[in-house]
Amino acid sequence: MTAMSSETLTLDTSTLFLNSYNSLSLQSPQPSPPFSFTLLSNHSPLPPIPSDFPQSKLIPKTRFVVDGFRYAGDYSASYFLSHFHSDHYTGLTPNWSRGIVFCSETTARLLVEVLKVSSLFVVPLSLSKPVSIDGCEVSLIDANHCPGAVQFLFKIPGVDGNCERYVHTGDFRYCSSMKLEPIMCKFLGADGIFLDTTYCNPKFVFPSQEESIDYIVSVIQRVGVENEGTLKSVLFLVATYVIGKERILLEISRRCNRNIHVDGRKMAILRVLGFGKDGVFTEEESESDVHVVGWNVLGETWPYFRPNFVKMKEIMNERGYSKVVGFVPTGWTYEVKRNKFAVRTKDSFEIHLVPYSEHSNYDELREYVKFLRPKHVIPTVGVDVEKIDSKHANAMRKHFAGLVDEMAIKQDFLMGFHRGSWETLENVEKDSDTVPNEAVDHEKEVISPELKTINNIELGNNSSCPQKDPVSKDLVVSNDNETEEIMQELCDCLPTWVTRNQMLELLSNSGRNVVEAVSNFYERETEFHEQVVGCTCQTSSPNASASLPKPFSGESPPRKVNVLLSQSYSPNTRHLVKRSMSPSKKRRNIDNKLNKKARINSSLESSGPKQYPITRFFSKLTPNISQGGGVETVFEQCLNDESLLASDSNSIKSYKEEVDQFIQIINGSESLRSYAATILEETKGDINMALDIYYNNPQGNLSVNKERLVESSKSDQAQCSTWDCSFREENKGPDELRNMADLAVPGLATEAVAANLVSLAPEKYSPIEHACWRDGQPAPYIHLARTFDLVEDEKGKIKATSMLCNMLRSLLALSPEDVLPAVYLCTNKIAPDHENMELNIGGSIVVAALEEACGTNRSKIKDLYNSLGDLGDVAQLCRQTQSLLAPPSPLSIRGVFSVLRKIRELNFGPGEIGKH
Ligand SMILES: [Zn+2]
Repeated sequence: MTAMSSETLTLDTSTLFLNSYNSLSLQSPQPSPPFSFTLLSNHSPLPPIPSDFPQSKLIPKTRFVVDGFRYAGDYSASYFLSHFHSDHYTGLTPNWSRGIVFCSETTARLLVEVLKVSSLFVVPLSLSKPVSIDGCEVSLIDANHCPGAVQFLFKIPGVDGNCERYVHTGDFRYCSSMKLEPIMCKFLGADGIFLDTTYCNPKFVFPSQEESIDYIVSVIQRVGVENEGTLKSVLFLVATYVIGKERILLEISRRCNRNIHVDGRKMAILRVLGFGKDGVFTEEESESDVHVVGWNVLGETWPYFRPNFVKMKEIMNERGYSKVVGFVPTGWTYEVKRNKFAVRTKDSFEIHLVPYSEHSNYDELREYVKFLRPKHVIPTVGVDVEKIDSKHANAMRKHFAGLVDEMAIKQDFLMGFHRGSWETLENVEKDSDTVPNEAVDHEKEVISPELKTINNIELGNNSSCPQKDPVSKDLVVSNDNETEEIMQELCDCLPTWVTRNQMLELLSNSGRNVVEAVSNFYERETEFHEQVVGCTCQTSSPNASASLPKPFSGESPPRKVNVLLSQSYSPNTRHLVKRSMSPSKKRRNIDNKLNKKARINSSLESSGPKQYPITRFFSKLTPNISQGGGVETVFEQCLNDESLLASDSNSIKSYKEEVDQFIQIINGSESLRSYAATILEETKGDINMALDIYYNNPQGNLSVNKERLVESSKSDQAQCSTWDCSFREENKGPDELRNMADLAVPGLATEAVAANLVSLAPEKYSPIEHACWRDGQPAPYIHLARTFDLVEDEKGKIKATSMLCNMLRSLLALSPEDVLPAVYLCTNKIAPDHENMELNIGGSIVVAALEEACGTNRSKIKDLYNSLGDLGDVAQLCRQTQSLLAPPSPLSIRGVFSVLRKIRELNFGPGEIGKH
């Protein structure tokens, strides 16, 4: 690379540090200098950097520590700060005197003026102007994150005249102009990029910053119009960090023609940032109806958003307004995934969750890596990325597998890339001694990721990507250009060991959606990894394991604090947590339902290929059960699993604290305890991972999911019987039909007639005439299920209430004994609160039951779940494609209810029940 020009500023950290420390001592005598000061004063070398120093914070072959102040020690006097966010400067205090802090000019001002770090230790560097620090060339370029945020580019002289080049992005949002940065061009093919992997997963998709700003502005304008001429005064609150997202405020001010109110502290910071002069911001509350508030004022955002309406009300009253509209410009959230912009409302409060990211999304990350084509990607954000053998870091690296310079990696492979990598390899080899010999001998068999690692090391370069060549050859052979393009894209996203067939499978499962395919792949990877980790020791070298050839198996995908941070309730999980909500709320697949008649008929006549003998399912029925039998069987199976779960009180004990925390985070009731214990057991107490599982598969939704399952399978059954026994044959009047139906089931009229009668106005609804069963019979569960279905799709509260009212009126008139069970089922309960009785059946059990009952495999269920978003809908779909030898008996309300009670009884023993 080009030699540094003579004008380049040359700095020596040791000299700077000694001078600064001496000046500090002159200003205010220090009790005792750090050991590093003493060493440097004596021209002695500093102690070696500890071997467990976080790899994501140390530039190889230097003592340059980036954003690692909390790890500061006597082994370094050269510290770099990428930007003024507290998670990056933690460890920096007003008393800082451990070394020199290099940062941008803006960040330097913030450090000195806001954080009160002594300016003696802060050295501001200009953007795009290389400086020489301790013989290394260091450049700063903008990171498009918060004001002052930079990326550091390091050029480290090597022994033989070759430089090693590293890019540390800090936190950054990629933009294409970064490619145009002249200095950047000198870092193409860099030895490593320390990458902000906050959103390193294809599921993170968020709108552009412009789109988000447009949204906020439009809401403010709309609310303004709506309240024009009324006496209502609306206060707008915008939540922000100490710094960051200033652009939103500036745009609101400009486009809504308003000043922005900020408090004194924020104003001081804005002044430091140069935003204070132009009159946009004011400290006078009365001068603006747009007020900036602290990050957590509108609600906690970690690990998902929980609104704080109480605080909003306080602010509203205090500041004399009658309505408050809040904006939380957050990163990615589950709400974003579904609706882009999510709104929470209560009374006169609205909170808008606005995805506004100052971090790169998945595509942008890949774009940047593709541009730089570095030899290595070192993730800087994520659980455990600091550890050299972090499986999460390895998994994240895989997202860039096709984009890094693999040839260079191979060349460097045995040389060891990172300080300490030799030690890691040695460890792996040592560990191999403990592995049985016969296992080691099978070079081609993957016994475990760790063993494969060893094999790769032993076999050298060629073996590291054994399946690469066949894949690319295959690609050439095919003639479907479009497919090939997609395949190539997918190939770029996946580790090289994934075979063509596996890729095709991924594509077909994702409907040829590459992003989804990649996402599914990494999710599958995680699962596999969890299993592997569960039974093998945990040692792996980051480099070697990046190329493990395993069939859809390997390291896990990223799990980061920030991922979780942005996970909020999905519409589903919200129901899970709000247990008082009607289970019917979760049903939304009305289209499915409408088409059901046709599908059921056809499914009765033909048998699908993957058919699991349904007789096996019913063979387990106890002879006496006439109603709800099928469901009972499902639950019998659940029970076995569930009792295992419930008896697993050891895990509850061993992760007591984590379980408490977990429950607290998900706002769950105590009933989730055993579920929480189970996943925490699975994740070895890792709460983040457990939450990830929880939010990805709303399994915490114990009884709700299970009831949905019952509900849908049962309504299918009931309808099957009806169609089968009567409706298909002759067209009869409703009364006759009802009588006919009585023969087989407790009277179901046609779907069209009976299904929506409860939606009649209460005065028009006849509890007896319009019911779908007759006096004295047990009420069929479908009566309830249909009502739930209708209520779910009803937005009006009054209308929904009247439906429930009609539903209950029929029960009162025809089978009063069913009223209580129905009320419990409506309220998602099986007993009054004081009995403290919960079902504790998790999604995993429901999935297991589904597997058994529908003859579907787990991954199919998972795929379906991913596309439908609801286990109940999955169950419904599975059942619809299943042929039945004989129509199962329909369910009754009391049957379902008593089965639920029974399950609970079997779980916890009869001692606790019996009050009913
Ligand atoms: Zn940041």
